[in-house]
Amino acid sequence: MIDLRGKKVLVVGLGSSGRSSAELLQSKGALVKITEGSDSDPIRKNLERVKDLAAGWEIGGHTEKFCLDTDLVVTSPGVDPQALPLDAAKAGKIPVIGELELGYLFTRAPIIAVTGTNGKSTTTKLIGRILSMSGRDAVVCGNIGNPLTGEVENLREDSIAVVEVSSFQLETVKRFRPFIAVLLNISEDHYDRHGDLARYTDEKFRIFANQLSDDWAVLHSSFRKEERTGAISSRKLFFGKEGPDMVIGDGTLVTPEGVLLKESDMALKGVHNLENVASAAIAARIMGVDDGCIKEAVRGFSGLDHRFQTVSQIDGVRYIDDSKATNIDATQRALESVEGKVILIAGGRDKGGDYRSILRPVREKVKRIVAIGEAADKINEAFSSYIPVDSAKDMSEAIRVSAECAAAGDTVLLSPMCSSFDMFTDYKHRGVVFQREVRRMTEEK
Ligand code: ADP
Repeated sequence: MIDLRGKKVLVVGLGSSGRSSAELLQSKGALVKITEGSDSDPIRKNLERVKDLAAGWEIGGHTEKFCLDTDLVVTSPGVDPQALPLDAAKAGKIPVIGELELGYLFTRAPIIAVTGTNGKSTTTKLIGRILSMSGRDAVVCGNIGNPLTGEVENLREDSIAVVEVSSFQLETVKRFRPFIAVLLNISEDHYDRHGDLARYTDEKFRIFANQLSDDWAVLHSSFRKEERTGAISSRKLFFGKEGPDMVIGDGTLVTPEGVLLKESDMALKGVHNLENVASAAIAARIMGVDDGCIKEAVRGFSGLDHRFQTVSQIDGVRYIDDSKATNIDATQRALESVEGKVILIAGGRDKGGDYRSILRPVREKVKRIVAIGEAADKINEAFSSYIPVDSAKDMSEAIRVSAECAAAGDTVLLSPMCSSFDMFTDYKHRGVVFQREVRRMTEEK
């Protein structure tokens, strides 16, 4: 553990990660100051909560002079690596670490870290659930909404920190060394920040960078032949169609000892969820949880809200809220998991991906697209030569248009492929509005 007593530390960003970093730093005796580029009510609230800012604060913009006079910089995952405070730190040769790294430096408990483009929250939650049901003190945290720095004081040596980790957080990792690191998948996302797939993949693999031979790496079998996988120092276990440690096929999870679970026994549906369950089961087995307990925990786990969540069934039409599908691969997985035809509500803020990459499943499954938000034109361009594409000005109109062309046996699927910030506060808000409008329609029937 590092000694920060009396050290000047600059926290960059005052969202929940920044606030939680500042509080941990203060509790360790550091002289904290904060710089935040924007100014809003939530930022001001966080500022009020972090009292005794011995070294001051600035919000609504960064100044070089304020940022330079410091011994250490702690940055938040949302902060652009080119932002002034980080540039200034680089120029001034001041060390920069991320919130995750800071939390790690003060954590005594073993860490299970989960990353990937999709499925992180589902898998992190499930691992936490299995461990808790086996009697372990599992603390679920990280990118899932409660930063690791905020849980440091609750973690004992015999606890287990189950941490959801984003690629943004891995950018600033230096010593972060999870006992178990899970890599679920990598697909096109966040090009605005990472540039290209090779760089994005490099960032994701940083989760293994500091592991040693007595740690564990749990990876999707598609990574088996990757050069990057060969460079991992820890013990490796693979899940997926080719396994071999957890083979997924015909709706079952099979270990070298036999069938562990069947999809028909689970509330979670779809191959992508079998992958999530497989990786969680491997992590739990490493921690010594018996298969009976794993099965019981998985059977009762129905997943998280806004992830392929059935909202209701009206006149034989199923309405599914998959608002968390903010990239193309997540929507592809949703389409693959639906039986029958789909009316797809998609759109929002475009992330620069190629929608045509899912033309095949779209042509197979989708009978109509209702496009919303800023990306509506781009979606229309991508698909309208193949299937009808309508535009809707808001969610209520999108649902009405979808309902009009849905027949019994069809599914109306909100799976946007885009972020939500053009029309909503976040994906949760978008999902809540979808669910509310669907319920309103149910009541009117
Ligand atoms: P994350 O935390 O990585 O965003 P979530 O568990 O919140 O992952 O799920 C996000 C979206 O991805 C949802 O639409 C969900 O249905 C889909 N999804 C979940 N697991 C996977 C997976 N293993 N592969 C692809 N898509 C997935």
